[in-house]
Amino acid sequence: MLKTLELSGFKSFAKKTELDFKSQITAIVGPNGSGKSNVAEAFRFCLGEQSIKSMRGKRGEDLIWNGSNEVGRSNRAGVKLVFDNKKNLFSNLGTMSSAGRKSASGGDFEEIIIERVVNRDGSNEYYLNGSLVRLKDIIELLSGAHIGASGHHIISQGEADRILSANMKERKEMIEDALGLKLYQYKREESERKLLKTEENIKQVESLRREIAPHIRFLKKQAEKVEKAEELQHKLVKFYREYLKREKIYLESGKQKIEAEKKPLTEKLHELEKEMAKARKILENSNQKDGKSEELLVIENKIKAERENKDKLYREIGKIEGEISANQRNIEKIKAEMRSEENKMVPLKEIEELEKEISAYFEIGEIIKKIKEFINKHKTDFEDKNLEKSEKSGIELEKDKIKFEEKILEIDKKLLELDFKYSEIKNSIEKEKDTERDAEKNIFRISSEMSEARGKLEFINEKLHRFSIEENDWKREIQEGGVLLGTAILGFENDILQDEVSEGDRDRQLYRRKELEKMKIRLEELGGAGGDEMMKEYKDSVERDEFLAKELEDLKKSAESLEILIKELVEKLDIEFKNGIEKINETFHEYFALMFGGGEAKLDIVKEKIKKKKIEDELESGEEDIRTSSSGLLSIMGNSEEGEEETKEGIEISVSLPRKRTKGLEMLSGGERALTSIALLFAVSQVNPPPFIILDETDAALDEANSKKYGDMIENLSKVSQLILITHNRETMSRAGVIYGVTMGRDGVSRLLSIAFDEAVAVAK
Ligand code: ATP
Repeated sequence: MLKTLELSGFKSFAKKTELDFKSQITAIVGPNGSGKSNVAEAFRFCLGEQSIKSMRGKRGEDLIWNGSNEVGRSNRAGVKLVFDNKKNLFSNLGTMSSAGRKSASGGDFEEIIIERVVNRDGSNEYYLNGSLVRLKDIIELLSGAHIGASGHHIISQGEADRILSANMKERKEMIEDALGLKLYQYKREESERKLLKTEENIKQVESLRREIAPHIRFLKKQAEKVEKAEELQHKLVKFYREYLKREKIYLESGKQKIEAEKKPLTEKLHELEKEMAKARKILENSNQKDGKSEELLVIENKIKAERENKDKLYREIGKIEGEISANQRNIEKIKAEMRSEENKMVPLKEIEELEKEISAYFEIGEIIKKIKEFINKHKTDFEDKNLEKSEKSGIELEKDKIKFEEKILEIDKKLLELDFKYSEIKNSIEKEKDTERDAEKNIFRISSEMSEARGKLEFINEKLHRFSIEENDWKREIQEGGVLLGTAILGFENDILQDEVSEGDRDRQLYRRKELEKMKIRLEELGGAGGDEMMKEYKDSVERDEFLAKELEDLKKSAESLEILIKELVEKLDIEFKNGIEKINETFHEYFALMFGGGEAKLDIVKEKIKKKKIEDELESGEEDIRTSSSGLLSIMGNSEEGEEETKEGIEISVSLPRKRTKGLEMLSGGERALTSIALLFAVSQVNPPPFIILDETDAALDEANSKKYGDMIENLSKVSQLILITHNRETMSRAGVIYGVTMGRDGVSRLLSIAFDEAVAVAK
């Protein structure tokens, strides 16, 4: 139930003003222009009204106290409504969105305070029990309590017969609202919107799937290719590795074998080269032999010279010996002379002694000496001429002879040495000659052996060269393999082969190489195996398609359940509406009869099936009622197509006054219209009573008698709804429990005071 309304800065209520609704019926009275209607508008405002026009403004700013000479303008207008929630007025939250329920749950509070503020910049704030919330939350909360912003429970000034003057469709909407069916309608509209959106999504997803289908087909083919390529690559890797490994073994063992053959050969060649160098050296040294020959010649010359010396000495000795013998002959001659007659004066005996003495001497000099001594003794005139000669040369000669003989001995010694040296050199020359010959022979042998070894080596090197070509091929193949197969071929060296690599394997290995090349070509034809990205794209695309398929399924499911929900809602609305109309009719008739003292009044649901084309015809024919209602209806259905049949539904009011033959709304007088609409309004309100109803001078056109009846109805209505009545009507005032007087001073500010009935009557005048 409504507790208080607080206005601050709202329109003419510059100052904070609070209305307390202690009574079921509250009357607000006051002179024209004092600000009464502003109070009704404050309700609308606070309940979330979005049409500023319906609050007699153009912009949000117009709702804010604009200031007067005395009182400065406000920056914001705020209206606060306080409800008593002890009876859980705001517990009807079952149909609210979860967000609304969470933030605007009324069930937990004894009091519900709704506040709205508008600022000069036109911005609005909504508060629920002091917390900032969204407008949506307020609307959902209120519609649950049957006090929506639509304002079916707030009848503004001059609006009482709006229900009568509205077209069929509008009427229907008003009644639906009053019956509390708006909530279902919102739900229906929301579901329809959702359905539409879902259908759009379905179409979108379907077209997406259609769009990607060919791409997936294409990718699938590619993927199959890639899979094939991968399989082939796998095989190729195995094959390649085995090939490379076998090749490695072949190359290594082959090379090893050849190296083994080569080693002794190179060693031998090395030896031969050494030998050759030696031999060459020997030959080179033979040139020194000339020196030796020269030496030999020198010795020969020396020997010759010595020999000549020796000969010369011999000749000298010969000469000396000749002289000696000549001396001896002289002695013999002397001897003979002495023995001669001339020399008979010397005894023979002495001569014989002298001879004997001379014979004892060998040296001619001694002999001559002895002879001389003998001559001197015997004073003979022995011719001594010869003796004189012999005496001089005899000693000298002997001495010279010995000297020469000694020299000869020396020369012989020298010659002996020279001969030795000569034969020594001669021997060495002979020996060298032998070594040279050997060396020459050796050079011949070595070079032939060398050329043989070289030939063999060349052959071996040729083999090695061929191996190195094969090795290069192998290395290139490793590289190519790396490029083609990546790291997959790394480490093939450590692979273990099933069988040994044998000599005869070469042919098979060559066959393998051919196969390898073929496989490479096939792999290349398949576009290589590097389709990782493509495979990922394929996988992603398939996943996406599956996701879309799943989504489509979900969407279809939710469309289905939405369709069911809409159908249920439509049915529910239809039933509730029909039931509501029936109930309204009962009360409507009752109130109408009460007002007019009889007569008939009822609402009829009108359904019409028309084609769109026909509508246009009708439009031309100028039947306004049908036109507005049907076009409005079409806008609700929202799916009309040319020539399609549409069902339009509206409400028709038929009335017949007692004692009057005229029928139909058009025939009613102003007062009658007001009475009829009040009867209908009250009837509608009673079927699904809102917590409070605000009636702004609904009673303005009533005469005294009808005012009484109006007063009775109000009292009746106040049993189900709290009433706030803005009125100048004395009768109406008399039914109120609390009366507020609104006045406006010269400062343009509306003021409120609680007054007694008498005062109220006075104020109202
Ligand atoms: P009546 O009995 O004739 O229907 P009323 O009592 O309902 O009159 P209202 O229409 O509520 O009077 O009040 C209108 C008054 O409010 C006018 O005097 C108008 O100038 C004043 N008013 C409206 N908006 C503002 C505003 N933003 N600032 C100041 N005054 C305002």
